[in-house]
Amino acid sequence: EQPEIICIGCGVSVQSERPNELGYAPKSSLEKDQVICQRCFRLKHYNEVQDVSLTDDDFLKILNEVGRQDALIVKIVDIFDFNGSWLPGLHRFVGGNDVLLIGNKVDLLPKSVKHNRLVNWMKDSSRELGLKPIDVLLVSASKGTYVREAAQLIDEYRNGKDVYVVGCTNVGKSTFINRLIKEVSGEGDIITTSHFPGTTLDMIEIPLDDDKALIDTPGIINHHQMAHFVDKRDLKVITPKKEIKPKIYQLNEGQTLFFGGLARFDYVSGGRKSFTCYISNELEIHRTKLENADDLYKNHAGGMLAPPRPEQLEEFPALQPHEFTIREGKMDVVFSGLGWVTINEPGVKVVAHVPKGVNVLLRKSLI
Ligand code: GDP
Repeated sequence: EQPEIICIGCGVSVQSERPNELGYAPKSSLEKDQVICQRCFRLKHYNEVQDVSLTDDDFLKILNEVGRQDALIVKIVDIFDFNGSWLPGLHRFVGGNDVLLIGNKVDLLPKSVKHNRLVNWMKDSSRELGLKPIDVLLVSASKGTYVREAAQLIDEYRNGKDVYVVGCTNVGKSTFINRLIKEVSGEGDIITTSHFPGTTLDMIEIPLDDDKALIDTPGIINHHQMAHFVDKRDLKVITPKKEIKPKIYQLNEGQTLFFGGLARFDYVSGGRKSFTCYISNELEIHRTKLENADDLYKNHAGGMLAPPRPEQLEEFPALQPHEFTIREGKMDVVFSGLGWVTINEPGVKVVAHVPKGVNVLLRKSLI
């Protein structure tokens, strides 16, 4: 008979059969002297303090509440994590309300990137995801670029109504709101917080110059974000702080690039060609032979190929391959939350690997 194993974190009875249920820990971890369940592991290593189901539940309550209002909805996304910072389901809740889409962190784009191409891509992608924004604009919340323009547009589009600002964590929503406060609230205005109905969360209300308000809703955790798979201390590695320096690689077919241990780009076929990486300057890129790539990852993930950190390896999702064939034009393979690789010439086959759950896709080059 199997002795019962207890999680040293929360005391729950550990099981290794049902990954989505309480007390799950991978089989391999049961050998250890001290066993910790997946939920406690996440809490400890990723600082995901909130219970998964509670978060999702609160998320639905927030969307419901926002959908019931007659308001302008301002949705913030990270332009380096468009899909990872998308709020799935928002379009089903907004009802007849307009949504203004704001792409943050424009300061990170190299000069060569055409803003209007990015905006058009965001418009197209939004529609594909079921949302038709009234407008799309780019800002840099941290530098303050275009924040005044954003404030003016918000005031125009709100049409005398309240404004709800929504977005998932890490997109820079707090930074944006803090900038906005300076733009919209005159002297003597009082910012208040109030309780979000039916949740444990508070929201910030900023009075506008009529009797309306701009309401900052709590940041929502999107479990598909790359940011949730790296340790808090490594966020600065994957999230660039400075303008990205494109790195050009001349690759022969059968070569692989690793982005730390978080993603991998295999050049399968197409002769010698050039590829430009738009990835955080802090994330190390390793070039290797495709035929050695699996072994390299097996032996060096958490070490030479980091992040992830060694202690995260067990819980880190397996990299999953996504194949792309580029027949014409200049295309970007976009790694949500990391950046992208521009394929400068067509006639190539590549495979992009990302942790299970993270999005990878192809788009027309922004250059
Ligand atoms: P929130 O979780 O959405 O409220 O995000 P924060 O405002 O806390 O920002 C998340 C991270 O993104 C922080 O490290 C910020 O410094 C960074 N950040 C926010 N806005 C910008 C921006 O416009 N450009 C850049 N490069 N980083 C930003």
